[in-house]
Amino acid sequence: MSKIVYALLLPIFLMPLSALAQNNKMYVMEGIGTTVIEISKGYNTTTFYDSFWNFDSDFKYGIPQGCQSNHHINLLRWVTKKALNMEKHLLSKSTFIRSVQCEKSLYLHKKRPFLRDRLAPEQLAKFRRGTKLGIVAQHLFPGGIDVRPHSYHQYTKKLLETQEVINSQSHNVIYEAGFQYDRLLVFLDILSKEEGHWIGYEVKSALKISDTFLLDAAFQYYVITNSGLPLKDFQIIYINKDYTFDGTMNLKALFIKESVLDRILPLQSFVKKKVEEGKATLQLEKSPPIEPGAQCTNPYPCDFIGHCWKKIPKEQWPQVSYSGEEFYHFVEDILKLATTEDKS
Ligand code: SF4
Repeated sequence: MSKIVYALLLPIFLMPLSALAQNNKMYVMEGIGTTVIEISKGYNTTTFYDSFWNFDSDFKYGIPQGCQSNHHINLLRWVTKKALNMEKHLLSKSTFIRSVQCEKSLYLHKKRPFLRDRLAPEQLAKFRRGTKLGIVAQHLFPGGIDVRPHSYHQYTKKLLETQEVINSQSHNVIYEAGFQYDRLLVFLDILSKEEGHWIGYEVKSALKISDTFLLDAAFQYYVITNSGLPLKDFQIIYINKDYTFDGTMNLKALFIKESVLDRILPLQSFVKKKVEEGKATLQLEKSPPIEPGAQCTNPYPCDFIGHCWKKIPKEQWPQVSYSGEEFYHFVEDILKLATTEDKS
């Protein structure tokens, strides 16, 4: 069917959306067939029936059997997105951590981004190293599908792709699987199905697990499980400080996988509370009246120091240090070796 025909059908799709909210069902006349889309939030209740292609097709966020048309697939994705109320997210894992550090930082980040200090090259390099290390760690879980969004505009598409992969059971490993719940968004480094159960893995460019990493993991667990996907375990992958390179890169020896489930479950109510506080902060008309203090560098150097400390003599400003240079050289060496081995 041509694009024009689908464009003409769009209003018909739009009309039943309010009805869908009431009974989770949508009937759409399309050509000589009838498409029935039954959706409710979560992974277990979505059903599409499509009489035009295959009346008995029953799939969950997937593509109906026999459906060959990209236009039709895109239309179904669009309807799913509308039906699930996939509004723009308010908090991601980084903004959640930011809000725990300082609510004012969250507010300024979202509402006054132009007040931000220029990113230090050391900080930028740190982010890049973290991303690259995550990609190296993917080799511990070969054969996965990468649904990483390459820009903000791809978020919704990647969320739906994640659901399609999970429900179609086409892959047991997903890199950067995306989840959204209650306007909270996460992209998990590695999602792996082991012995029939999903396990989440978060990769950290670090030699040990910090309290902030636990909070980050707790937030991800909160979003993923509340979005409808049960996780049997959640593990943090970090670098083994005793690793010595003996001529061949041994990723299993280089990385440590450690379950943190028993430490993040008790944090779930804290996450819920902080999420509510963060959302309330974003409703404010002015930034919250928080005085500069010890929170400005703990756990991370805040990028609004120039704004918040401007009335304080510069000699009293917090010293921002990007310690651990030795460690980062070590990570750089790992990345070089892993890349070299990949190419060989
Ligand atoms: S500089 Fe300090 S007070 Fe200002 S937003 Fe950042 S953490 Fe909050």
